[in-house]
Amino acid sequence: MDRKTFLKTTLAGAAALAVAPGTLVSCATPQKKNSTPLRLSFQEGVTPGESLAQKLDFMEKLGVTGFEPGGRGLAGRVQEIREALQGRDIKVSAICAGFEGFMLAQDPEEKAKFDTSMREIVRAAGELGSTGVIMVPVFNWQQPVLPHTLETREYLCAQLHDLGEFALSCGTSVILEPLNRKEAFYLRLVADAAAICRDADSEGVKCMGDFWHMQEETSDYAAFMAAGSYLRHVHIASRGNRVMPGEDGEKDKYVDGFRALKELEYPYYVSLECGCRGEDRAAALETAANLLRSQWEEA
Ligand code: MG
Repeated sequence: MDRKTFLKTTLAGAAALAVAPGTLVSCATPQKKNSTPLRLSFQEGVTPGESLAQKLDFMEKLGVTGFEPGGRGLAGRVQEIREALQGRDIKVSAICAGFEGFMLAQDPEEKAKFDTSMREIVRAAGELGSTGVIMVPVFNWQQPVLPHTLETREYLCAQLHDLGEFALSCGTSVILEPLNRKEAFYLRLVADAAAICRDADSEGVKCMGDFWHMQEETSDYAAFMAAGSYLRHVHIASRGNRVMPGEDGEKDKYVDGFRALKELEYPYYVSLECGCRGEDRAAALETAANLLRSQWEEA
């Protein structure tokens, strides 16, 4: 194509674009609507009801499809939970901690307690088809703890590798939960948890984000995108006082994080871990579920 023909062609193109003044002409490929669904989950303690069956009935009424029990005593509850879930459209999401001791304990007895109790919970989690068992390597208040050094990080990754491989053999995973600096300075950012997952080098080691703790992040979107396929679970609460999403009004914005989850086609659960300011917990949960669904739609 010579210069003259080129000019003719491009000018013709420009003229075509200018046909309808005031009409916005978009050259972008039409955006496919993101159909990734929001899979809501409730922690057992958050849900109203005297019995497990009543709690699950309540969740079903709200269309909540994930159930997050605590890990303490889980091995003795496998049968009970399996039976209660039979015939329902609810699955066990993650298992919330519940082990004794801690992974970075300096005291061998504390470490042994962790190894034994955590593996018992992981085994039960596998039997229940859970996405994984949530853990924190050490809270600020736990002593004596291994020093925060490069060697300790290498030790943490090696320990996680073994635990992750064990979890895989049980059909589940272990999920690192970053907290805020006041609770666990060892692990605060979702991207850091994801980097530990990568370095632990086991498909059984995953991480999560908790919108409450994620106030330490500079961007909810970037935090989740950085975690990518390592992301296995999400906790959610109001962002001012850790009560029901929506109870802190304008602060309770999740759209930025939800946009990342949708772009990632995140296939796991967003689980409510929160208190409740209102007297009527059932009504507050319904309002919260509606708020989260509308923000998901908006994202
Ligand atoms: Mg949490």
